[in-house]
Amino acid sequence: MALVVQKYGGTSVGSVERIKAVAERIAKTVQQGNSLVVVVSAMGKSTDTLVALAREISSNPCRREMDMLLSTGEQVSIALLSMALQELQQPAISLTGAQVGIVTEAEHTRARILEINTSRLKKHLDEGKVVVVAGFQGISSREHLEITTLGRGGSDTSAVALAACLQADRCEIYTDVPGILTTDPRIVPEAQLMEEITADEMLELASLGASVLHPRAVEIARNFGIPLVVLSSWSDAPGTRVTSPSPKARSLSGLEIAKAVDGVEIDTNQAKVALLRIPDRPGIAASLFGSIASKNVDIDLIIQSVHEFNTNDIAFTVVEEVLKQAEAVAEAIAPALRSQPTATEEAEVMVDRKIAKIAISGAGMIGRPGIAAKMFKTLADAGINIQMISTSEVKVSCVVHQDECDRASLVLCEAFDIETSALISPASIPTQVPPVRGVALDRHQARLAILHVPDRPGMAAQIFGLLATENISVDTIIQSQRCRVINDIPTRDIAFTVAQEDAEIARNALSELAKTINCGEIIVDNAIAKVSIIGAGMIGCPGVAAQFFSALAKENINIQMITTSEIKISCVVAESDGVKALKVVHQAFDLAGKDKIHVPA
Ligand code: ADP
Ligand code: ASP
Ligand code: MG
Repeated sequence: MALVVQKYGGTSVGSVERIKAVAERIAKTVQQGNSLVVVVSAMGKSTDTLVALAREISSNPCRREMDMLLSTGEQVSIALLSMALQELQQPAISLTGAQVGIVTEAEHTRARILEINTSRLKKHLDEGKVVVVAGFQGISSREHLEITTLGRGGSDTSAVALAACLQADRCEIYTDVPGILTTDPRIVPEAQLMEEITADEMLELASLGASVLHPRAVEIARNFGIPLVVLSSWSDAPGTRVTSPSPKARSLSGLEIAKAVDGVEIDTNQAKVALLRIPDRPGIAASLFGSIASKNVDIDLIIQSVHEFNTNDIAFTVVEEVLKQAEAVAEAIAPALRSQPTATEEAEVMVDRKIAKIAISGAGMIGRPGIAAKMFKTLADAGINIQMISTSEVKVSCVVHQDECDRASLVLCEAFDIETSALISPASIPTQVPPVRGVALDRHQARLAILHVPDRPGMAAQIFGLLATENISVDTIIQSQRCRVINDIPTRDIAFTVAQEDAEIARNALSELAKTINCGEIIVDNAIAKVSIIGAGMIGCPGVAAQFFSALAKENINIQMITTSEIKISCVVAESDGVKALKVVHQAFDLAGKDKIHVPA
């Protein structure tokens, strides 16, 4: 007999008819000889309705009361589903997060699961009942017993966490689409179903805007090796499997907070090429990386920061062996850029061999603003200057001087409790996989830029440390290449993205600090969108970036920021270009299928 955890999302239980249909499916799964725990979301869009009610009363409602309010949605659906099962003569019992023993941090509206006391649940299972659990909610530990929620979309996380704690045979996430698709079918109906995706790819996809899975659910599945499938509750098709490598043994206590950083990676075989003061208009990144790709040179990090005076900097790293070729391409392009009418100053190529890349990685850093800040602080305390920063949701990479690399890795391993023997070398090149699996669009971010931050150790640490104390999760962080001397002090710009609702809080928090550390202006832009391509196959596959940038250039879409990790490239574009950008990029990588995906209303 297998133990299965099934999760049904809002649309899957959006009406009485749907609840009855789901009950039939559950009863059938039990008749096939399985033991079942079922996690449900609130019906349809009812969580949105509750949020709207709160907003009618307050523009900034207390987070505790929000949890009290939003947790009610799931209580409705578990009771109704339990009744529907009982009507089918299937014994069932509904339990809230607290009743089922889901213990979380006391962090309202974004609590992480600490542990699940499964004894009550197991007792009901032994009695032959289907246990119907309210998703998205838990209770803070013993003294306070406060109702908490896990963050929007968190029922997926409840389900996978239960599967981990119960050592379930599999976890099935039922939703309104046939599985994980190459992109959001509501924007691109020709999106194609993937039979399988790695947890690492899915983590990037989910945190870059593909709402089909909560990224923290993917993280738990990967950490504990839970077989996870995403499938439609409207059909019997097999859906998409999310695959994980065999996990290392892990404790179930402190489930979601145990270890934010799994590894420290260093790469000393890197060199940096930067093009400074190039014109800020569509097509520049495309032609630069197009020429590099035509020489079959593979690039690693690419960073393009915000512009000032209509110019941009693009910096990238390559392995040292191909530096000469990359430099030649950049030098060949620069003269043409120099004659651009928009450039107020001369474009220039800069090369640095004496660099190293050092990165921390781990899915546990998603939504935990303190982790990047801790990395910067650790490096600052060791007197190590950070030349470039590039982040993905699960990785923070810094470029430092090569001579400081060993010391940097030592202090980081110590700070994040990583054995130095566990230092990871650059990722190996997977074979036989397409370079790009999926494309995602995130329209909920805002961009902040702090101009003229003094170029000395400790600045990034102070900025992101402060945001962490305000509990603001920072997404893409970019520290520019350009050094501008202001009052005899070399400075660099730092730009990053945050959730739109956090943008003004971040600006206010930073404006005081900016004065004390002598930075320039803070610029906020809410009208941005982030378009990303994801795929493990892009490692060691020259030309992927060029193809991405040229798809945007062809549509005259200007790229405002670029960040990369090994398996993703993200571009920030104007919000008004977001949907078009997603469509053209999906097409450029030939990801469309023949049939259109139908999403139930
Ligand atoms: P549920 O209520 O079942 O949790 P969600 O709305 O959270 O459903 O997630 C399913 C939705 O995710 C789909 O309807 C689709 O619009 C959206 N989506 C975005 N990106 C993707 C993708 N790459 N694959 C599948 N669905 C996606
Ligand atoms: N009902 C919650 C939400 O809408 C949780 C979920 O559906 O996963 O965000
Ligand atoms: Mg969801």
